[in-house]
Amino acid sequence: MKYPLIEIDTGKIQKNSENIVKMCKNHNIEIMGVTKGFCAWPPVVKAMLKGGVQKLGDSRLKNIINMRKAGINVPIYLIRIPMLSEVEDIIKFSDGSLNSELTVIRALSDKARQFNKTHKVILMVDVGDLREGFLPEDVLEITGEVLKLPNIELEGLGTNVGCYGGILPSYENTKILVDLAKEIEKKYNISVKTLSGGTTVTLTLLENGKIAPGINQFRIGEAILLGTDIKNLRPVPGTTQDTMKLKTQVIELKVKPSLPIGEIGRDAFGNVPRFQDKGYIKRAIVALGEQDCVSSGITPIDSSIEILGASSDHMILDVTDCKRKIKVGSIIEFNMSYGGMLNLMTSKYINKYEI
Ligand SMILES: *Cc1c(COP(=O)(O)O)cnc(C)c1O
Repeated sequence: MKYPLIEIDTGKIQKNSENIVKMCKNHNIEIMGVTKGFCAWPPVVKAMLKGGVQKLGDSRLKNIINMRKAGINVPIYLIRIPMLSEVEDIIKFSDGSLNSELTVIRALSDKARQFNKTHKVILMVDVGDLREGFLPEDVLEITGEVLKLPNIELEGLGTNVGCYGGILPSYENTKILVDLAKEIEKKYNISVKTLSGGTTVTLTLLENGKIAPGINQFRIGEAILLGTDIKNLRPVPGTTQDTMKLKTQVIELKVKPSLPIGEIGRDAFGNVPRFQDKGYIKRAIVALGEQDCVSSGITPIDSSIEILGASSDHMILDVTDCKRKIKVGSIIEFNMSYGGMLNLMTSKYINKYEI
């Protein structure tokens, strides 16, 4: 084993995927599996698909291209609104994209025509979180413009909450999409196929029966990958959380004071550090640092171990109360948050293993 490493239990991820797919299917909601959290690493993508996910979404075109190279041929959508500079690759490698700028949709149309393909477009609607999307009052008119464009299929509407403004999903904000779809269908005499109404945070609305009827797609990453819902600070019912573990090795172990000695200036990141005096403590340094993962993104599985801090390459742990005998070479295990997973999977210094 080469440390530091992340160990991923793809069987558990498949099970989470199955359970989320089943739960949503009971409400006529399909799942787009979101792969950006693990850089679309093929073994995990395959676990999601085995669990019944039939469509994928990623925010990074590089991940989408890698999935195609790995032979994954289900529909894949770009879920970050596109850059004008990536339009050609979007047409080549993805089936559709989430969009909020007419200029970009026009560019997609031009390229799609050039390559003789049809590109599916989901118009994002901003229902209040103030990240991406058209304002609801503009959607009807924009739809008219999109419908004029050749080689573009207007597949539906989508929305996102909880990401920037921290707005929680509600009956009212999901109903905005449903109402807009009805207006579009009436005015333009078309059918709006997909209403992509939310992400992991929106699963709560299903559980308490508050989702607006008509929403028929969720884009889900976190609940399948980690079984958590960071925005509601809870485990997601019907999922397991112990899907991934970070493991790294102790490279120094010494009893030292808890207070640094000398005049305090700034740390490696320009912050003025503060310390609590606990006398002499047993300090372990592990091979891991902020370059691999923000230290707030991981938690030692052994709750008697505390993270004291980290610089780029060294993480310092207080192991004074640890029952297990720690020595140089011992392996320390951590759980991770969604943010931690994102960092660790992106770091080329972390080895990835499927179990
Ligand atoms: C990341 C992302 C998702 C997935 O969100 P989870 O909270 O991981 O379920 C869905 N949609 C968009 C647009 C995203 O950027």
